[in-house]
Amino acid sequence: MKICVVGGGPAGLFAAYKCAEIGHDVVLFEKNEKVGKKLYITGKGRCNVTNDCDSRDFFANVVTNPKFLMSALSAWTPQNTVDFLAERGVRTKVERGNRVFPESDKASDVIKALISSKVRYELGTEVTEIRVDNGAVSGVVAGGKTYEFDKVVLATGGASYPLTGSDGKSFNLIRRLGHSVSELRPALSALISKDGFIPELEGLSLKNVTASVKLGKKTYSEFGEMLFTSRGVSGPIILTMSSYMARENVRNCRLLLDLKPALSREQLDQRLLRDFAENSNRMFRNSLDALLPKSLIPVIVARSNIAPDTKVNQITQPMRERVLTLLKEFDVNITGPDELKYAIVTSGGVSVKEISPKNMESKLIKNLHFCGEVVDVDALTGGFNIQIALSTAYLVAKSAMEEDYAEYSY
Ligand code: FAD
Repeated sequence: MKICVVGGGPAGLFAAYKCAEIGHDVVLFEKNEKVGKKLYITGKGRCNVTNDCDSRDFFANVVTNPKFLMSALSAWTPQNTVDFLAERGVRTKVERGNRVFPESDKASDVIKALISSKVRYELGTEVTEIRVDNGAVSGVVAGGKTYEFDKVVLATGGASYPLTGSDGKSFNLIRRLGHSVSELRPALSALISKDGFIPELEGLSLKNVTASVKLGKKTYSEFGEMLFTSRGVSGPIILTMSSYMARENVRNCRLLLDLKPALSREQLDQRLLRDFAENSNRMFRNSLDALLPKSLIPVIVARSNIAPDTKVNQITQPMRERVLTLLKEFDVNITGPDELKYAIVTSGGVSVKEISPKNMESKLIKNLHFCGEVVDVDALTGGFNIQIALSTAYLVAKSAMEEDYAEYSY
């Protein structure tokens, strides 16, 4: 069978590798001058290639359309990824949160492992059209030339980090084929705030805090680590919340931070009373060292409306209440998520209703397949998104193999 794979990210590379391995004639078109440009920067250049967890934990980390991925993830598991890399000479290690990285800490080793001598790579060649004949794929137009193919695999990625090649342009091509594309929005994204105190907190990382956002009747809440940036908030729990909120209207909402979630308001009040008693002759601005990181103190002091030089023994109960509220409900006005181009993954993509979960084939056009981030699936950080790219790609190759057997049996 003559197979065309469009896109040289993990999904396209792996689909091409596996299809060629079982004897198909495979051409991969990649519009960049090299393959794996996004893969190269994953995991800060170390590539968190999968997650060493069981399927229950895996699905708990898939934000959009987990059920659709059941066949893919049982056909190609995280262990299969680890074994495949080992067979290709890439040893892996498991880090915090079951994150799997190449032992070398080099994403380039993962890219090399996905390249096959049996695949023809047409680099610097953009596919601009998919040819369809009688409801089935017949070929593509790439780099201005027309090619005939029996099967076409679209692995063109999402729309974030456009400089890596996945700029979302391919969705126009997909829409022209009659497929629906659900709205593309940023996921695993920072949240933007124009609050005046934000620049003062740039670089401050807070551990063991709870962040929550109320949108309509729903409250999104996460506990863990977050980071203030020059333009808003980011870090693990914010990225996670942004993915869960991706399909909501996150414009102009309030993020509430509980800076001391282990203590109830009453317990924290007792703690404040104790700290204030020990510092009774100090100025308010010098009394919070034991409770808060240094850079947060001037911001809390300013927002409390208590004069910084007030003697602690002059702080009244209503004043203390204001401090308590700031510690339990430190609010940040969010104008919205960061732009899609800065998001780690894209929420949205080709509607899963129009793709068979068994073999990733289009339900509208025969022999047209999708895999990877181009599909309307996305997951949290931890190696889940690359694993999804590989598992969905594997299903495409598996179906190509099964079609072969079906042909032989006649
Ligand atoms: P992509 O990797 O986006 O590849 C698509 C390819 O298709 C591109 O090379 C593009 O140039 C090509 N293409 C597009 N249109 C055409 C066309 N018409 N013709 C020819 N070629 C075309 N996930 C993890 O699991 N672990 C991580 O550590 C991790 N870190 C990340 C860090 C960053 C900074 C970013 C941005 C993402 C990270 N991700 C991570 C997410 C992960 O990189 C993606 O989910 C994954 O790369 C998707 O793979 P893909 O093959 O579907 O698409």
